[in-house]
Amino acid sequence: MELSPAQHERVSAVLNFARSRLSPGARARDAAELFDRKLWDEAAEFGLTGLPIPEAWGGSGLDVVDTMLVIEALGKGCEDGGLVFSLCAHTFASVVPIWRSGSSHHHERYLRDLVSGKLICANATTEPEAGSDVYGLKSIARRDGAEYVLDGTKCFITNAPVADLFLVYATTAPERRLFGITPFLVPRDTPGLRVAPEHGKTGLRTSPWGTVYLEECRVPESARVGPEGSGAALFGESMVWERGCLFAYYVGAMERSLDQCIEHARSRRQFGHPIGHFQSVANRIVDMKLRLETSRLLLYHAGELQRQGKRCDLAVAMSKLWISESALQSGLDAIQIFGGPGVVSDTGVDALLRDALPGRIFSGTSEMQRAIVARMLGLA
Ligand SMILES: Cc1cc2nc3c(=O)[nH]c(=O)nc-3n(C[C@H](O)[C@H](O)[C@H](O)COP(=O)(O)OP(=O)(O)OC[C@H]3O[C@@H](n4cnc5c(N)ncnc54)[C@H](O)[C@@H]3O)c2cc1C
Repeated sequence: MELSPAQHERVSAVLNFARSRLSPGARARDAAELFDRKLWDEAAEFGLTGLPIPEAWGGSGLDVVDTMLVIEALGKGCEDGGLVFSLCAHTFASVVPIWRSGSSHHHERYLRDLVSGKLICANATTEPEAGSDVYGLKSIARRDGAEYVLDGTKCFITNAPVADLFLVYATTAPERRLFGITPFLVPRDTPGLRVAPEHGKTGLRTSPWGTVYLEECRVPESARVGPEGSGAALFGESMVWERGCLFAYYVGAMERSLDQCIEHARSRRQFGHPIGHFQSVANRIVDMKLRLETSRLLLYHAGELQRQGKRCDLAVAMSKLWISESALQSGLDAIQIFGGPGVVSDTGVDALLRDALPGRIFSGTSEMQRAIVARMLGLA
């Protein structure tokens, strides 16, 4: 895709910011599983927590494709995959649904502070017994006068340890399954909400996550987002944003890794030649380039359909599936091309592989993306 001068300027600015401000110290933070709030604030001030949100709420008002270009530039310039993941989870799975379906009360009370990054929001959907089968969730929201009482457990919740607000999906009518799911906005200090931070993630380690317990957690009726039963549609829409825009990060990260591999294959000499001279090394790099370019095409195609308001779930599922699998394979290839240093975490070469592993799981696993594509092909 040919970038317009404005897009080019924006992408260059993001690349510079990512390289100069977000990358330094990334490997040490990754080793220590450190979420750096100061860096979050800096990224938010740069505008990274409100990319597609209208300017009236303090956002940048970018369309989907322009948002993808910014996230891709972050992937190319920023070694701190966990920080970008946290920023994206906040923006696409929480702020976007609040912007699109929240009431004027939610907008007035939260939106500006979420867009400015002052408040952090976590999307709390997954449960111990409801992962891929997300619409089988069991957390219950029982009506009690002018309030709802929430009970349940949510796990693997990105940003939970640092979140000020939770977008909680619970059921108001278990017998109606997906038509009973209802979203609620629950502030962290609500009695009955408790967070247990979790540690030891394989990749995206600077992104904090945890388990959220809801025990007799009372919220007013005004905490409900949309009508009762509207949660599945809202969640589905937020996943289209996340599967599209968030995965632009991996496209940029694949390009960064490819550049490192080309540089290494040109400079590292064995048997009197640069290792890139050996066809089996060169072909690995050719395959990385192919994966990068096909990922980019699928990403932009999905983004363009979404931008035009056309049906895009098939394109988004294919893009998410292809990018996440490609990032994993290219991460493996990068390690092989570097040899010994490839498995030394201090070099950062293994970061793509480690960050790609969770990418095949969150926002719907690769298997579930294949199930969507198969269904769209009339196979199930
Ligand atoms: C880094 C990370 C961040 C996350 N952040 C969040 C968050 O912020 N909020 C949130 O709510 N959740 C979050 N999650 C949870 C994530 O959405 C779930 O892990 C994911 O949906 C898979 O659910 P599960 O882990 O229970 O696996 P399971 O659903 O138990 O799946 C296990 C395996 O079985 C396969 N499988 C299951 N059902 C089928 C089927 N019908 N057909 C074929 N294969 C199937 C899966 O594909 C997978 O390979 C996050 C996860 C990760 C890894």
